[in-house]
Formats: sequence, C-alpha cells, structure tokens
Amino acid sequence: MSTDTSVARPRPALLDQGILGFAIDGQWRQPRSAETFATVDPATEQVLTQLGVAGPDEVDAAVQAARRAFDGWAALSPEHRAKVLLQIADVVETHREELATLDSLDMGAPLLLSRGMVDHAVEIYRHYAGWPTKLTGHTTPAGPGQLHYTRRQPIGVVAAVIAWNGPVLQTSWKLAPALAAGNTVVLKPSEHGSLSALRLAQLLAETDLPAGVVNVITGLGGNTGQALINHPDVDKVSFTGSGPVGKHILRTSADTLKRVTLELGGKSPLIVFPDADLNLAATVAAAAFCMGTGQGCVAGTRILVHRDVREEFGELLRRAMDQYVPGDPFDPATTMGPLAFRAHLDRVTGYFDVTRAEGATISAGGHRLERLGLFVPPTLLDDVRNDMRVAQEEIFGPVAALMSFTSTAEAVRLANDTRYGLAASVWTRDLSAAHRVTADLRAGTVWVNTWGAMAPGTIPFGGFKESGIGREHGPDALLAYTETQTVMINL
Ligand code: NAP
Ligand code: MG
Repeated sequence: MSTDTSVARPRPALLDQGILGFAIDGQWRQPRSAETFATVDPATEQVLTQLGVAGPDEVDAAVQAARRAFDGWAALSPEHRAKVLLQIADVVETHREELATLDSLDMGAPLLLSRGMVDHAVEIYRHYAGWPTKLTGHTTPAGPGQLHYTRRQPIGVVAAVIAWNGPVLQTSWKLAPALAAGNTVVLKPSEHGSLSALRLAQLLAETDLPAGVVNVITGLGGNTGQALINHPDVDKVSFTGSGPVGKHILRTSADTLKRVTLELGGKSPLIVFPDADLNLAATVAAAAFCMGTGQGCVAGTRILVHRDVREEFGELLRRAMDQYVPGDPFDPATTMGPLAFRAHLDRVTGYFDVTRAEGATISAGGHRLERLGLFVPPTLLDDVRNDMRVAQEEIFGPVAALMSFTSTAEAVRLANDTRYGLAASVWTRDLSAAHRVTADLRAGTVWVNTWGAMAPGTIPFGGFKESGIGREHGPDALLAYTETQTVMINL
C-alpha cells in the first residue's frame, strides 16, 4: 500500500497534552480510571492520542455540576445569556482552523468540509443568541377577575449525546438552543469524534459562561454514554445518532420520564423527473452521496430517475462521481476523505457482499482502495429493487442505488417506501408538480432542485417516522428545550 507523504499533517497542541481528561464544573479533570481509549486518524490509521473514559463517578460529577449551575444560569437576564452565546460564536470563529483540523484528523472529513461545518456552527450560536430575548409566553382569554398566561421555563440538565460525522456542528445544534432557553448541559461526544468538543470546552473559559453550565465528558457509548442517560438527575436527552441507540435511549428514559429528542438516520430519496435540469441534478446527486464520504444523515442514497431519462442521467451521474476522488483530508484538492473508523469501513464494505448476494450489481466502485487509510471510492448500485436491504438500510458510506420509475405516483410510492423519513430531494422544472410531490412525501425536509441546503438555524430540521422525534433549528428546537408553565391568577 502506498502512503502519500506529500501532504503536511497539522498537529494541534491538544494532541500533546497527554491523556485527555474531562471538562467538569469549569475545570479540567484528569480521568480517575486508568482506562483510556485511542482516537485514530482514519487517513493514516495512526493513533492521534488517548482519551479518558468517564466512569460513573465522573458522569455523576458532571451531572451534579450542571445541576448546581442550573438555577444561576436560568435566572440570568436574557440579554446576559445572549451575550454569552455571541461570545461562544466568536471563540469558535477565532479558533476555526484549529477546530476544523481536530475534526478532520479525528473523523477524516476534508478540511474544506470541516471548515464549512465550523462556519455553520458559528451561525447557529449567533442565531440562538437572538432567542433568549424573544422567548415569550402568551396571555390567554379568561373570565372577569382572572389572568391566565404561560411562560417558557428551561427543562433543567440536558444530556447531549452526538455522533462523529460532524462534531463541531452537532455540538452547536445541541448547545445553542439548550443554553438559549436556560438549560445546562453535559455533552458526551462520540468516541470517534471527541477532540473538538474537548477543545471547545477549554475555549469556553475565554467566555463569560459560568462554570458548570457546559460540561464535556468522553468515553464509550456503552458505559459513559449509558451512565449519562441512566442518570436520574438528567431531565432531557438530546441525541443524534443511530436508530437502535435512539430507541434504547427512548426506552431508558421512560423510567424517569426524561424528555427526549432524537435525530436519527435516513435513506433519503432523490427523485429526478424527465423535465429536470439533468446536468445539475446529476452533479448534486453525486454530491448527495459522496460529500462527507456519504457519512451524512441526509445522504441521498436512493436515486429515483424517470425511465425516459435513465440512460442519459446515469451517464451524467457517473461523470459527476468522477469529481470525488478519495484523498488526504489535508490535501486542498481532496473532495472526499476516508471512512471514519475501521469497524465502519468493515460495515460499509460488508454491504458490497450484501449487494451481490441480493442479486443487485455494482456499476462503479465497490471495494476498499489499495492504499493506506480507510478509503472507498464512490459506489453506484444498479438493478436494485426497493425492497432489497441495500435500498432499505442506512449504509452511511459513499454508496447509492440507482432505480427508475414510470409515473409520479410510482416515484412517490418508492420514495415513501422506507421506515425512514429524514429528507428527500425533488428535481423538476414544473412548479405545480414540485409542490404536489413535496406534500406527498413523508420526509422532514424536502429540497427542490437542490439537496443538503441548511439554513443558519432559522428553519426546522428533523425526521418523520424512524428518522427521529423532534426538530433541530428554528423555534421548534428552542421550544423543545423548554417546559410550558401555565399561570392562572384569581385577581
Ligand atoms: P451511534 O452509534 O448511535 O452513536 C451516537 C452516540 O451515542 C455516540 O456518542 C455513542 O457513543 C453514543 N452511544 C452509543 N451507545 C450508547 C448507549 N448505550 N447509551 C448512551 N449513548 C450511547 O451512532 P453513530 O454511528 O455514531 O452515528 C451515525 C448515525 O447518526 C447514523 O445513523 C446517522 O444517520 C445519524 N445521524 C443523524 C443526524 C441527524 O441530525 N438526523 C446527524 C448526524 C448523524 P460512542 O460513539 O462512543 O459509541
Ligand atoms: Mg478517529
């Protein structure tokens, strides 16, 4: 296997701080237990550093710190909370390169993509900085001598558990609305993407965020994560990750009736009608499953094309896929990085065997590259029926199935024939058809003549069906971090 040594690999100072500890109660705590885990750079398969595994005592310390900080943080003026959120945005922006570098080293996203995700995080903190001063209740009609009103109160201690495919970004999606509404947080990032969250915790010391309002603990999902979601003093779990773990969190939370928000996976369709701009549709379709090496919850992995343009579109798509050449995340020319970790590579490549066993074919890609690092090229599956596993299960790699339809009704039926409902993308120049089809799709976000667009926090994002419960972004996310209190006064 060859190694490309021409690209300089940065090494942020965080990686030379020994075994990394936790940020609890505004302090950096070294792990008590000798148990650690390694984080590995998927482009080189070299260990980057060792991180601590937070045990039950440390999880408890983090939750108790968040509990103690809660009353003070919730009681601050809305203007004060807004100011702190703006400071967090500034500190993330100032350390953009370092945070993006940590994410790229940790989980392999091209640096350009990581920078974009940090920029998006900055927008999210700024967006939610505008909310504390606008979080209002209602006065409601009441009889003579009565005053009825509602107010929005924070829920309390939020356990934020996130995935590895966009650590800085997902951290902002949780922290910004939770803090804006007056909650305190214990964040448990994924073992495959913890570095930037730890660095962010260090950087928060440069802001006026009170100690204990944000705590970051690391460890493995099954022990540290489990201890956190079990904790009786956690009032809400806000989770981004896989369906099985999401369902497990929902079951676990039933015991203490924790509030739960779940942002889960998808198997999102991209529907191409014959009147679409086929060139643009093909370019975007390739991006929809190759960007981020397909490791995106909204990845467009079922490409449904009208039979009349199937051949033409297939050609254009294959050409567009050529733009995605797997390479070193720190090479400015790289458009697609490695898969994030070894077990994930095995899982993705395992689906190539499933494809063949099911009688579908692989018309491009479909193998691990013969080079150092966890690289898989863009992979296109043909002869796929929508009931096959490769059309129903989230693969989370640069793999898409190309299928065709003959009528709008069939396109909608195929698109909806999945247990997921996170996103969909519709390609047509017919405005009426676009509106009709979007209304018929069972998906939380429908893009028309685009895919993957994310607003800077303004419009909700989340899933129908098994893609989740609740929404990120917009007022929906903010309100999901509040309880409605009703006050009824006999004057
Ligand atoms: P995952 O295995 O479910 O892990 C997600 C998080 O849960 C990680 O921090 C994990 O820790 C933790 N965890 C695992 N077991 C746990 C337990 N028993 N108790 C508490 N926490 C536990 O998901 P993933 O493979 O990292 O992420 C990929 C999935 O996320 C995909 O399905 C993708 O579609 C989804 N996703 C959804 C969105 C969205 O907004 N809808 C965005 C991004 C990703 P460890 O990593 O340490 O095990
Ligand atoms: Mg890693």
